[in-house]
Amino acid sequence: DPRLQAISEAIRVIPHFPKPGIMFQDITTLLLDHKAFKDTVDIFVDRYRNMGIAVVAGVEARGFMFGPSIALAIGAKFVPLRKPRKLPGEVICEDYELEYGTDRLEMHVGAVQSEERAIVIDDLVATGGTLSAAIKLLERAGAVVVECACVIGVPEMIKGSCRLNGKPLYILVEPR
Ligand code: 5GP
Repeated sequence: DPRLQAISEAIRVIPHFPKPGIMFQDITTLLLDHKAFKDTVDIFVDRYRNMGIAVVAGVEARGFMFGPSIALAIGAKFVPLRKPRKLPGEVICEDYELEYGTDRLEMHVGAVQSEERAIVIDDLVATGGTLSAAIKLLERAGAVVVECACVIGVPEMIKGSCRLNGKPLYILVEPR
């Protein structure tokens, strides 16, 4: 797809953020580039529009920047998966491992219905731990997770989707 190179080039790399040694993939510069931003959303919309998707679940915070546009365009609802203590209603939660320690995603009870077909959106997949937790949350609520989608994926994740509970992973570009 000829649009992918421009999408990749619109992502800025910030070395040593948030700590030394990390090459942070900054998608805020992609959001500043109207064509690259629109192409990113369009590619996901073209892929998911005829797949009977009822739920687009976005992972806080950068999944919120792509998910709602995709949801509106394909006629699905948007469900935010949030960090602890952000959602005001009753939640279900799923813990997951980080490099150091653990984190947690929460989803409102009643946000999805049993058997609804869902996709999960985030900006970047590294180990797959975050997406795995998202899949578990949705499946515990009875949803059918069809696929996970990210703008950026490390090559190892593109090859083996071991930590994604066997779910397919759709990636646009590799880290720069
Ligand atoms: P994983 O759980 O797959 O190891 O990490 C993915 C999560 O970390 C995503 O929610 C993603 O937003 C965040 N993340 C980790 N590194 C980066 C990065 O370099 N750039 C961006 N934008 N997000 C990152």
